[in-house]
Amino acid sequence: MITRRQFIVSATASIASNHACRAWASAQADIGSAEIMTLSDGHLVLPESFLYGDLATDQVDAVLSAANAAAGGLEPPCNLTLFRRGDALVLFDAGSGPSFMPTAGKLPEALGAAGVSPDEITHVIFTHGHPDHLWGVLDDFDEPFFPNATHLMGEEELAYWTDPDTLETIAPERQSFAAGASRRLGLRKGRIETFRGGDTVLPGVTAIATPGHTPGHMSFEVTGETGRVLLIGDAIGNGHVALRRPEWHAPADQDPETGAATRIALLQRIAEAETLSVGFHLPGDGLGRIIRDGDAYAWSPA
Ligand SMILES: [Zn+2]
Repeated sequence: MITRRQFIVSATASIASNHACRAWASAQADIGSAEIMTLSDGHLVLPESFLYGDLATDQVDAVLSAANAAAGGLEPPCNLTLFRRGDALVLFDAGSGPSFMPTAGKLPEALGAAGVSPDEITHVIFTHGHPDHLWGVLDDFDEPFFPNATHLMGEEELAYWTDPDTLETIAPERQSFAAGASRRLGLRKGRIETFRGGDTVLPGVTAIATPGHTPGHMSFEVTGETGRVLLIGDAIGNGHVALRRPEWHAPADQDPETGAATRIALLQRIAEAETLSVGFHLPGDGLGRIIRDGDAYAWSPA
């Protein structure tokens, strides 16, 4: 069963103890005794070049207009996932934090509205090391924002962003990502645990390797007794071009060819199983289903 609330936290949600108005969408899915909730970190403002790069403008515009999406740049939401199972209160990704973009880094407000204190979070599990997923790990004073949490990242992803060579080898337009990741992960050195694709990271949390957007990007399947939800992360990065033309090489993917292969396989898996999913940058509160639509796919909000 799925319940969904726009603009307000559910008054019946056991995950929340306080109730406050919030100016964004949130969603919940009930999968037995485990609970899933999406929390908004705000949104990004992305230029057209980051999204579509060298793709033919007329073809991109045709896809956008068929999806009723505006041409040009995109202001995608950032939907984090909170998962409670047993004693574990798990946050997937840490949000942008205070210094990435003025429109993002709103997670502290979203947590407050949900009645969750950062020190209650037991685990922070990262999909990847990009700013909007990692930089919220530290506060304004470079102190851990989730002081009691075990932090976990895919082995390959952690190795990539902590490798001193990455700053030299990454494309110039991504150097600030590398510097920001290396600094934050460096401050948490030795205190980040790692896992691999296929691992059971925690009871009810299985990692799925979905490389391409970054070298070690991970998606996750989270399960309760009565259901499962697939956390896509940025492996499917938007609700129009990525679904209509998953084979197109997306400039937002660091390795566009691998990213496209990953996207095609993941879309097939999700659509066949009709799995409820959370997309970090998918529309609204990010919770919904990816369904087959002719020879491509479409987003169906929960
Ligand atoms: Zn992202």
